[in-house]
Amino acid sequence: MPAPAVPHPIARLPEEWRDALVRLGERPFRAQQVFRWIHRRDVVDASAMTDLPAPLRDRLLEEGLSPVLETVMVRRAADRTRKLVVRFGDGATVETVLIPAVSGPGAPGRVVAEEEQDADAASVDDLDEADEGERGAEATRVTQCISTQVGCAMGCVFCASGVAGLKRHLGPEEIVAQVLLGRSLLEPGEQLRNVVLMGMGEPLHNYEATARALRLLLLPEGIALSNRRVTVSTSGLVPEIDRLGRDFGGQVTLAISLHATTDEQRSALMPINKKHPLAELMAALRRYPLPKRRRITIEYTLVAGQNDTHDDARRLASLLRAIPVKINLIPMNPIRTSSLAPPMAPRVLAFQRVLLDAGYSCFIRRRRGDEVDAACGQLALHGERPRPKIPFASGGNG
Ligand code: SAH
Ligand code: SF4
Repeated sequence: MPAPAVPHPIARLPEEWRDALVRLGERPFRAQQVFRWIHRRDVVDASAMTDLPAPLRDRLLEEGLSPVLETVMVRRAADRTRKLVVRFGDGATVETVLIPAVSGPGAPGRVVAEEEQDADAASVDDLDEADEGERGAEATRVTQCISTQVGCAMGCVFCASGVAGLKRHLGPEEIVAQVLLGRSLLEPGEQLRNVVLMGMGEPLHNYEATARALRLLLLPEGIALSNRRVTVSTSGLVPEIDRLGRDFGGQVTLAISLHATTDEQRSALMPINKKHPLAELMAALRRYPLPKRRRITIEYTLVAGQNDTHDDARRLASLLRAIPVKINLIPMNPIRTSSLAPPMAPRVLAFQRVLLDAGYSCFIRRRRGDEVDAACGQLALHGERPRPKIPFASGGNG
């Protein structure tokens, strides 16, 4: 989908603000003021930008500088995870989740994985170890999971967004606005540290909007996230993985939803594999311009009877050989439209054991905020009905 010629005000870069304001007859320094209101102070309503002259505020409103989303639901879990459903102007809804770091390995309800001393920030649950070297800082580090599309075209069979299909792409302003909203809702003592593109949608299927949103998230004069703390998760769109590597020099953290070790298995779970089979995907990972000491995150959703055997684990170990990775095993969160289910806890642990013995960093990730339906797409698409608990979460491993 081609990007609009003039980006929405919320998605404008500082130099675009300069051009736009000079065209309106304003002095260039106003650009920095407006940009700061939006990206530093989370204010997107021009009428609230109190240090701007009233006529300029009116012109900004005419330019369309006003909120692009509203919060329609907030659900809070016992672990302080907050799941928000937001609605855009056309009535479309997506979800975004704020996930505070748990305070340590003994925190209640936590699935304790081996090898907790990892230094890469890369997934919804990675924040626990992401700042290992910075423990003792005052702030509670929060990871925000954001959406990039309404629904998803990729059709993965275990995913609520995939089952729903693609309704539309989000614009860059709608992606960034989720982060501005999330930051404005932080509680005292919390600080936004990581943003993961793991909500609804396939970010690389909406490449232009995603790339612009990433640039805005990283800009030092704006939201100023560190690039290793911004994670793009993809089901494996190979040309766009290459493009992301080129456009961001490999600096943005890449997470690959792998989920299977043979083309037959993977195509059954993830139709994208028919277009970009495993060999092609693995080649893309090998050539991704990964900076030194950084790793690609491999996400592997364990689905009972589909991809969870000892042989699967061994194949996964050999498939990833010589690629710098860390592996996150995620017992599947049941969805209403499918009878697929997560394996029981002993099988999950056995799977992890094979990978640990093969020398990988391998973590078992529960989906945080389970009771608020924090898995991909579930709340925004299906309303508030309760879901069954997964065996792993209730199996006493937390
Ligand atoms: N489209 C991108 C990012 C959004 S999905 C991608 O697929 O990577 C984010 C992660 O949630 C993916 O790893 C996806 O496989 C996983 N996921 C989706 N539905 C799930 C479910 N029911 N249980 C566990 N993980 C799920
Ligand atoms: Fe889309 Fe990711 Fe869900 Fe697959 S797992 S359907 S790519 S959101």
